[in-house]
Amino acid sequence: MSTASPLVDQFRRRITYLRLSVTDRCDLRCAYCMPERMTFLPRKDVLTLDELHRLSLGFIARGITKLRLTGGEPLVRRDMIELVRALGRKLGANEGGGGLEELTLTTNGTRLAEFADDLFAAGVRRINVSLDTLDRGRFETLARRDSLPQVLDGLAAAKAAGLKVKINTVALKGINESEIPEIVAWTHAQGFDATLIEVMPLGEVEEDRFDHYLPLSAVRKDLERRWQLTPSGHRTGGPARYFDVAETGGRLGLITPLTQNFCEGCNRIRVTATGRLYACLGGDEQVDLRAALRSDDPEAALDRALDTAMRIKPERHHFAIDRAGAQPALARHMSMTGG
Ligand code: SAM
Ligand code: SF4
Repeated sequence: MSTASPLVDQFRRRITYLRLSVTDRCDLRCAYCMPERMTFLPRKDVLTLDELHRLSLGFIARGITKLRLTGGEPLVRRDMIELVRALGRKLGANEGGGGLEELTLTTNGTRLAEFADDLFAAGVRRINVSLDTLDRGRFETLARRDSLPQVLDGLAAAKAAGLKVKINTVALKGINESEIPEIVAWTHAQGFDATLIEVMPLGEVEEDRFDHYLPLSAVRKDLERRWQLTPSGHRTGGPARYFDVAETGGRLGLITPLTQNFCEGCNRIRVTATGRLYACLGGDEQVDLRAALRSDDPEAALDRALDTAMRIKPERHHFAIDRAGAQPALARHMSMTGG
């Protein structure tokens, strides 16, 4: 394979979307995501800013057009905004840019008030913000930190800065189940898009996720008793299916990894903060890009590693939450691969 060839896997899926985790650390401890006493990676194992930058350029050279920075919480990494600025210069619209069509991030919103303007100035136009409840007490229980006011301030700052916001909400039985219509209505009233996500069995946490697993098929039925949901033609190349909600005038996405498989059109690849490429969110197929970056001929080694990734990317994931007490499908937490 020529080194500048696009990334196409053995199922002829063209890979154009990279999700890059810049840190595994986080200022929250969402109960479904990580335990209170989470063990974080030693800093020396995490890619440096320069390595993250070179890695991203290597991907862009191979046809990645959309790059999402994630974590852990990306905005807790101190030099994060420098990376955003450097990558922003690769956006097509910028002078000397080209290659990248979209630079975005997924954040819990706690530090958005500080960074929203800088993100916009660097070329970011849309962000995903995770928000599972609008109730301060419930937020504190779920995220184990009393941070809802900061998140709401951050969302207001993002809106004021001109960023388009999509709110991601994990649907949790017995936790935010009854609040979901209110969260969706609030989100739409703010002018934001809303997406609901099923909880996935990734990494050990204190509780049994089966207890809180809520299939979105049930949520959809409940919402349809109140509102008119019309399937929308909107597509983002991602796994969500979209609906227009007549009563709120907003768009609702449903991401159903467990009740409906979305692998066929997969266009993405994930890299952890240590440079480990995971070919599938729900699989263990991986390639060590840090070794490639730290080798004598990093560019060539990175290209070879990416070719390997295309060979091992599986056709689909196989995880399920189908019985109480089951082990997580994968030992790693979502905070490693960033969702
Ligand atoms: N800290 C940032 C945030 O929360 O948006 C980015 C990383 S976080 C791991 C990315 C997304 O993964 C969040 O929307 C979070 O709710 C979701 N997530 C974490 N663990 C999950 C799980 N086990 N199942 C489903 N979604 C999960
Ligand atoms: Fe942190 Fe995001 Fe995981 Fe919550 S979901 S603990 S904010 S990484």
